This record gives sequence, C-alpha cells and structure tokens, in this order.
Amino acid sequence: MRTECFDMSFIIKHGHFLLSSGLHSSVYNQTALISQDPQQCKTIISKIIGLLHSSQFDIVLSPAMGAVVFGYELACQAGKRFLYAERRDTHMRLHRDQAIAARSRVLVMENVITTGGTSEELFDLVSRAGGQIAGVASLVVRQLAPFSWEKTVPLFSLHRTDMPTYAASVCPLCQDHVELTIPGTTWVGRP
Ligand SMILES: [Zn+2]
Repeated sequence: MRTECFDMSFIIKHGHFLLSSGLHSSVYNQTALISQDPQQCKTIISKIIGLLHSSQFDIVLSPAMGAVVFGYELACQAGKRFLYAERRDTHMRLHRDQAIAARSRVLVMENVITTGGTSEELFDLVSRAGGQIAGVASLVVRQLAPFSWEKTVPLFSLHRTDMPTYAASVCPLCQDHVELTIPGTTWVGRP
C-alpha cells in the first residue's frame, strides 16, 4: 500500500448518501469537483503517477462512469492505452470494441474505493482476457484496513482514511429519517 496524504477536503460532502456500492454513508467524495477543472485534474493525477514509481503496465482500465476521466488522464500522462468497463446488466464488461490482449499488464484506476468490490470485478474481467493485474490506483480509499486482494495486488491512493458506511438496514441516518441523496450514476440496486 502506498498512500500520499493529499488534502482532498474540498471534495468531501456531508449528508446522507447512497454509495455506488449500495451502502449508506454520512460522507461522500464528489470527485467531479476535481475533473471539472482539467488543470487541477492533471496536477492531481500527476501525484498518482509519482506513487506508481517502477510499476509496469500497458493498459489503464477504469470502471464507468466516475473514474473514466481520471483513468484517461493517467493513461495520457503515462503514455499507455486506456479502456473502460461498463455495467450494463449485473457484470462489468468491455464494450465498444475495446479488448485486452493476452499477457497485457493492466493498472485499474478508480476514483473512490469503498468495499473494493468493483476492483475485484475488474480483476475477473482482466483474468478472463488473459491479462495480468499490475495494481490498483484510486484518488480516495474509504477504509484503512487492507482489502483481502492487497496481499497480492498493490494499491496506490492519494487519500486513505476510514469513512463511515452502513448497510441500509442498520443506517442511523435512515433511522433518523434524514433524506437520502443518490449522488452517483452507477448504483445498480444492490442492497
Ligand atoms: Zn441510510
């Protein structure tokens, strides 16, 4: 795990949010506040590049939608190919004639990681194509405890800290009847 403690406070929103993982939280990281300023986006992605050091990869792969602009910028700065996966039914897949050649080394670029589940889905996608996972990069990681896959896959992030998440059934904000905000676009109705 390599983490640079970068000040991301300007993207943090407080309220009652439904995350793309399906979990609820009082904290949301609005990464569109980074990408709306391309120069700022370029600067922040250059900091990710600085963390990658000697990582070897051929392709940057991002999950649509929120991470695409960051993955694209990373690929631009690193001089690599860029692909993005879309969830059109229940699974993340490549569409639009995008493909991973066998033995390609793939760096996954996310914007925010909560459960690590999306990264795992992309590992499966890469594995099925015969590629290799070179690592995962993310602007924000919402938990300090390592994910199980970090035993074998390096994770690079600019900001990593514990942020509260709750299953809807035990969410204290739901119990207090605080209005739920759905800020993302990729939630697929998982409980
Ligand atoms: Zn809730």
